[in-house]
This record gives sequence, structure tokens and C-alpha cells, in this order.
Amino acid sequence: MTAALEQSVVKVAVFGAAGRMGQAVCRAVQDASGLELVAQIDVDDDPQRAVEAGAQVAVDFTQPGATMQNIAFCARNGIDVVVGTSGFDDARQAEVRGLLHGGAARVLVAPNFSIGGVLMMRFAALAAPYFESVEIVELHHPDKVDAPSGTATRTAELIAEARAKAGSAPMPDSTKTGLDGARGATVEDVPIHSVRLRGLIAHQEVLLGSVGETLTVRHDSLDRASFMPGVVLACKKIGSLPAGLTVGLDTLLDL
Ligand code: NAP
Repeated sequence: MTAALEQSVVKVAVFGAAGRMGQAVCRAVQDASGLELVAQIDVDDDPQRAVEAGAQVAVDFTQPGATMQNIAFCARNGIDVVVGTSGFDDARQAEVRGLLHGGAARVLVAPNFSIGGVLMMRFAALAAPYFESVEIVELHHPDKVDAPSGTATRTAELIAEARAKAGSAPMPDSTKTGLDGARGATVEDVPIHSVRLRGLIAHQEVLLGSVGETLTVRHDSLDRASFMPGVVLACKKIGSLPAGLTVGLDTLLDL
């Protein structure tokens, strides 16, 4: 291999390597041209191994509680981070921005790495100003530890942003009494309903309605393989992003 070709290979460490997503990411990185898997780190492993292995990019699919520490560690050690772990609401994003402020490290947080998932969010935001009501139903396997999903939260944010820009009126809802949770959780006034069901992987419906018509935008990840092209793309392209925090895989796609 020539020196030029050797230089173009991105060295990748995977945090959460023993997890469901982490295992799939390790396989995808190993199979991808232009990427080299140099460290597999799970909960009992010393993250210093990523530094010793010369990692340039770390992929984090761990747990919301662990990711901030991993980001801080990587930023200190000059490693860019691709984050798939859920839970990056506005407060956490602000925390990451504060952590990275003035430094050279890049962090890309993508609530959904599947191309279909990214398009589903885009289509939902595009349609949202044209309908009176919008609600989100996200459906996942019952081993998922957080609710609502990061994808649902991000979708709600994008919908709210699009409706605010269009000057949409508040959504109609005459509910006066009800059991706690019956109307779901709200993110930026968009209701999100979380289903946890054995047999599912990751699915989401955005229901839009106006008088006399409804539109449903639905995406199904039927296999964790659906997230891998996005993760591989992020590992290859994160070096082209500006320093600091970037949110969403769409920033790397020509949408
Ligand atoms: P999982 O199977 O529980 O895997 C997480 C792994 O991370 C576990 O092996 C866990 O070990 C390990 N871990 C915990 N703390 C760690 C630390 N400090 N350093 C290194 N490893 C650590 O979960 P999953 O299903 O793979 O999902 C992981 C995350 O990805 C979740 O937040 C999920 O919502 C998200 N996700 C995102 C996307 C996307 O497209 N963005 C797609 C699917 C899933 P222990 O089990 O021993 O704690």
C-alpha cells in the first residue's frame, strides 16, 4: 500500500462495542474500505486503549449516562466522536457545546443513522405546517432504556421549528380529564407516544391530520444493518465538519 493510501484510512474506536449496536458497528467498520477498527471498548475497558491504538474517530453507542464522559475523554485526546446514543436533548447539546468550546474536536450526534429515518424526519417537517395536528408514535424493542427515542425527540423539534416558521396555530386538543400519560409525552408541544414491544427493532409513525384528511409518514428499521451505511459515512466524513457539535446525519447528505 502506498503512503498516500495508508494516510486515507481512518482509525476507528467503538465505545459500547459489546452492545447490540456496537457489535454491528464493529462489523461494519471492519468491512468498510477506508476505515480500520483499532479498539473495541465496553463498560469494563479502559478508554485509554483508544488513544494507545491511535484512534482518530470514536463511535459511541453506549448509554445516555456514559456518553458525556466518553465525549469529554475523546475531546481531551483529540479524537472526533460520532454519537448514536439517545438522549441528546437541548440541555445535553448545550453541555457538549460548552465542553468543546474553543477546542478542535468535532462531535457529530445523529439521533438516527438510517437514510430512511433521516428522510422520514425531513418529510414530516416538510408536511407539518400544512396540517392542523401532528403526533408521533415511536415503537421499539423492550430492551431500550430510554423513552421517548432520540429520533422521536428530534422529529418533534424539527416539526415544531417548521410550524413556528410557518406561523402555525397551536394544535387542537379538547382533553380536560385523562390518566397520566394517556396523551403521551410532549416535546415542544408535539405529543410522542412510546410503544415497547418484543419483536420490534425501531419504528416511527408521524401522524398528520386536518379536516377530512390524514397523512402518515412511517419508517421501519427492520435490522440494525439499516444504521450502518450512515455510521460508516459519518466516520469517513466527520473530519470535514467544523470543530464543535453538529447534529443530524442530514448535515452530511445532499438533501
Ligand atoms: P446496548 O445493547 O445496551 O449497548 C450499549 C453497550 O454500551 C452495552 O454493552 C453497555 O455495557 C456499554 N456501555 C455502557 N457504558 C459504557 C461506557 N462507559 N463505555 C463503553 N461502553 C459502555 O444498547 P443498544 O441497543 O446497542 O443501543 C445503544 C444506544 O444507541 C441507545 O441509546 C439506543 O437508543 C441508541 N441507538 C441509536 C440509533 C441511531 O441511529 N442513532 C440506532 C439504534 C440505537 P453494559 O450493558 O454492561 O452496561
